[in-house]
Amino acid sequence: MGLGIVDARNIWQIRPEEIISKLEVIKEVVKEFTIQPSASLQFVPYDATREKNLPEALRNVLSFAEQKLQEIVLLAKTISGVDTSQEIQLIKSKQQEFYNFSPRNSEVQSKLKNLKTDEFERALPYSKRIARQLPLPPFPTTTIGSFPQTPEVRQLRVKFKKGEISLAEYQTAIDAQIADCIKMQEDAEVDVLVHGEFERTDMVEFFGQQLSGYAFTEHGWVQSYGSRYVRPPFIYGDITRTQPMTVREFKYAQSLTEKPVKGMLTGPVTMINWSYTRTDISRQEQAYQIALALRDEVADLEAAGAKIIQIDEPALREGLPLKQERWNEYLSWSVDSFKLSAGIAKSETQIHTHMCYSEFGDIITHIERLDADVLSIENSRSNNETLYELTDGGYSKQVGNGVYDVHSPAVPTTEQMLSQLRTGIANLPVEQIWVNPDCGLKTRRWEEVIPSIKNMVDAAKVLREEASVNKGE
Ligand code: GLN
Ligand code: ZN
Repeated sequence: MGLGIVDARNIWQIRPEEIISKLEVIKEVVKEFTIQPSASLQFVPYDATREKNLPEALRNVLSFAEQKLQEIVLLAKTISGVDTSQEIQLIKSKQQEFYNFSPRNSEVQSKLKNLKTDEFERALPYSKRIARQLPLPPFPTTTIGSFPQTPEVRQLRVKFKKGEISLAEYQTAIDAQIADCIKMQEDAEVDVLVHGEFERTDMVEFFGQQLSGYAFTEHGWVQSYGSRYVRPPFIYGDITRTQPMTVREFKYAQSLTEKPVKGMLTGPVTMINWSYTRTDISRQEQAYQIALALRDEVADLEAAGAKIIQIDEPALREGLPLKQERWNEYLSWSVDSFKLSAGIAKSETQIHTHMCYSEFGDIITHIERLDADVLSIENSRSNNETLYELTDGGYSKQVGNGVYDVHSPAVPTTEQMLSQLRTGIANLPVEQIWVNPDCGLKTRRWEEVIPSIKNMVDAAKVLREEASVNKGE
């Protein structure tokens, strides 16, 4: 029998006594067994000892693929009677050292213990708050957040990281990108603008780097899909926000235009699902800690003048447990953590969320429970199926059904987008329809983005025209 007793999905060293006492019990009933990881080792990076930039106290308790193999050998030796007490003692003392080192924050812990149900809720229900939110034309147009990450933008970040340019120089250069981006959106007559996310490498990394309790590897690559590799960060202590994370760029962008600029945040569920997490407290608690940090950010963005804030949750769906009987538990805390981050927003503030390639049919009640004023979804590749899932489920809030596929370099024509939008109109009341691409534009080039956005706005204009003719205006 093979016992997958070493967790292959996480990057933490085993707690030897716990596993050994389990093995002792198993040994009573099963005579022969092999000790192995719980899954293939493809889900963890290669070797933790290469992470020289991490504090030693932390590095010592990490277990990547190499370390897991050593653990398996250690367990096998121990259970077959070899004296491994010295090695085990060493592990225990490193774990104690780590325990003393890792950040614990009593303020966050007590906030979590004393959460009240109304902190998860907006002050007014959706039907009452819409009237108070920013008036926009029918078929409002917007984008999902990022604009082209050109070689120039990437170069900037590299130079800053290497110390070749100062923070002030870096920020000035980022601001120049923001200014171009705002101008482009104004020229195209987009209704709700974004600052373009030029300062962000990756939507989780950007926030993780600013939150205490998050750590990053240099070499911790793991396969995401196909030939795409990512370096997931990991949570190793209580999460706290030490200062505003997105306000500077938001403020600058908003100062350049009369049109509303959306504040852009990565939601707690996506932060959790795209990171390795702690094993000493639940994922729910960790998601709530992140939600509390984001909640402060929402309040700061509002104070800085944001009327619209988007909290992205592209990873909500993919975090569903394999076994369906565990879905409700996951969806319950994940939706609640989103609500905890957004619940502080005033009724006047419009909260958006964005989900990429998701299916909603079977989780529609949970999507509704997110209570986001506007939900933008992928739609252009799924032939409107995602939209039908929402409309069949009677979704009551506003929807931006992605009108063009950001993963294709093709410039969509106004007619193509119109025909997609008409499907929306046939299925949803006009007041519920937004017009936007199906995801962020960071992988595209400006030459593709500019005409695409113009065509998209033209499609919205055609529909507005038709609507006013129908009303006899
Ligand atoms: N706001 C992010 C962006 O535009 C959303 C990315 C995503 O959905 N994966 O890039
Ligand atoms: Zn997306």
